[in-house]
Amino acid sequence: MTHPYLTIDLDKIEHNARTLVDLCRAHGIEVMGVTKATGGHPEVAKAMLRGGVASIGESRLEHIHRLRDAGVDTPCALLRLPALSGVEEVAAEVGLSLNSELAVLEGLSRAACERGRVHEVILMVDLGDLREGLWPDDLVPFAGEALALPGIRIAGLGTNLACLGGVVPSEANMRRLVALAEELERSLDLELRWISGMNSSGLDLLASGGLPHRVNHARLGEAILLGRETTHRRPWPGTFQDAFVLHAEVLELKRKPSVPLGERAEDAFGHLPAFEDRGEILRALLNIGREDVYVEGLTPLDGRLKVLGGSSGYLVLDATAGGLRVGDRVAFLPSYSALLQAMTSVNVEKRPLRGQEREGSIA
Ligand SMILES: *Cc1c(COP(=O)(O)O)cnc(C)c1O
Repeated sequence: MTHPYLTIDLDKIEHNARTLVDLCRAHGIEVMGVTKATGGHPEVAKAMLRGGVASIGESRLEHIHRLRDAGVDTPCALLRLPALSGVEEVAAEVGLSLNSELAVLEGLSRAACERGRVHEVILMVDLGDLREGLWPDDLVPFAGEALALPGIRIAGLGTNLACLGGVVPSEANMRRLVALAEELERSLDLELRWISGMNSSGLDLLASGGLPHRVNHARLGEAILLGRETTHRRPWPGTFQDAFVLHAEVLELKRKPSVPLGERAEDAFGHLPAFEDRGEILRALLNIGREDVYVEGLTPLDGRLKVLGGSSGYLVLDATAGGLRVGDRVAFLPSYSALLQAMTSVNVEKRPLRGQEREGSIA
């Protein structure tokens, strides 16, 4: 087959999960493994579970179906806010979801009651990242109304940082989260099982001891998958950064100038790219492009190769120093964006590997 392919080293994912679960456990935190960047890949979820995560979090019901169909019977939580039009399905299929809208909770309540179920929710509060969540001032009155809904149990309070606004988790915003949780508990006379304060951006704060003790739940995706905390994208000690490696094939290899000839206008994507004049270079064209992957998020494992750009079907490399031949496979580490796109591309074959099948460590 001529498809580009992505190898998935399941042993490394398991190892990364175990490293982070152990760290979190030492701080009294339970870990939910987040598989959304892999499109709910069942083998990835199973590797995370072998590594000790307590549950799986997913952003889409379709991914949760995929996990279930493949025999993952661990509790799955829906991380993206449920759609009002989807409350029936959510109440029928998942036990826990994150929420911030009363109309949706009312729908979930009705749907849960019809099924004789209790649907657990973590209420989301926005501490400044400006993605999902209630504004803090609205939290107590909102929770009061939610509490009155039959079939709904408020299991916790959560927040999500560093996703849209790039707001860094800090002692101050985590203390605020705990204070809000305690205010909820006091004013509504309830006990919150979870204070879900962190994703992969919280690891530095956790390791430095700056996370308040009552924060007891983490939702970790990128840190397990790519071995990085996400405020500076630094490799996390004791984890692998190369569990996922993307491979594409050289289709053409030619000496050509480094700067285009002739009058220039926009490229195929509406940009006017800049080119550095390095004289004649050896240019390699590979069988992967923007249709399959976020080209800017690819780092060749061979440091002598350089990504010059891509169109829908081609990736172009400066291979002057690479010793490549037509037909060779070139390996790349994907960023989170590149991983997300490659995992969901129908043109990229996924090759999960375990034990004997692994091609040896590259780290
Ligand atoms: C994606 C997501 C996560 C996981 O984030 P990472 O940075 O990959 O750890 C956690 N919580 C929510 C609500 C998410 O949408």
